Formats: sequence, structure tokens, C-alpha cells
Amino acid sequence: MVNEERSGERNFMPLSSVAREVFGVRHQDIDLVQYCPRCKKPELLMEATSSQGSKYTQVLRIIGSLCGIPVLMIRHSWEDTDHEHPIDMYLWHPGSTSRDAEPDQVLEEASWSSLKSAMLNIHERHKCDGT
Ligand SMILES: [Zn+2]
Repeated sequence: MVNEERSGERNFMPLSSVAREVFGVRHQDIDLVQYCPRCKKPELLMEATSSQGSKYTQVLRIIGSLCGIPVLMIRHSWEDTDHEHPIDMYLWHPGSTSRDAEPDQVLEEASWSSLKSAMLNIHERHKCDGT
């Protein structure tokens, strides 16, 4: 099954349409969960978007607060096939869960390598209790 979206067509699984039939609840997917390879605990939740409007991150920030981990949103361009174009990064630390909470850190005009550095930095701050 193919679903036509703003960013083009992509394969569509029936999961979304089945989930929409569950009355009284909402569902959300998460673009990326970074976790520790040793203890398997999550370290970072990420959402990525190519749209220029506001992006809904409240549920992700609530999950991040429950887990005690930050939430990072990146805004990128689909035309960035060489990964040389700047991206915007917005970082929330656990605790800011109100609907209109401003990001704790806005790294505008960041690069993909600075995103990689931010992700590595978050991993390095992880206090692993795994064996
Ligand atoms: Zn760990």
C-alpha cells in the first residue's frame, strides 16, 4: 500500500489506519531513540521534520521527562542529498513538558556533524548501570 504525503509517496502499513480506529486515544511514532548498547536504556528521543511550521513535540517531551532523557528536534531539507546543508536543532532537557515550552537550547544553522557531536555528548553523559 502506498501513502502520498507532502514529502512524496512511501509505503504504508495498515498499523496507522488500525490505530486511528481506536476511539478516545492518539498515537505517535518516534523518529529515533538513541539507547545505550550496554544497558539498553534510552538516552535521547529525536524528531525530524522538513516542514517550516511549528512541530508538535509535547508528547515526546513528556516521554523524555518520564525517562529522564532529553528530546532533540532537527529541521532539515529534503534537498540535502549531500548532507552539506545546515540544519536547525532544538533541544529540550527533561522537565519542559508544557505545550508551548520553548526549547532549552536552540542551535540554529547547525550542521550534521554538530548533530553527531550533540548525540555523542548525550551518550557520554549517560551514567550506565549495566554490566
Ligand atoms: Zn547504559
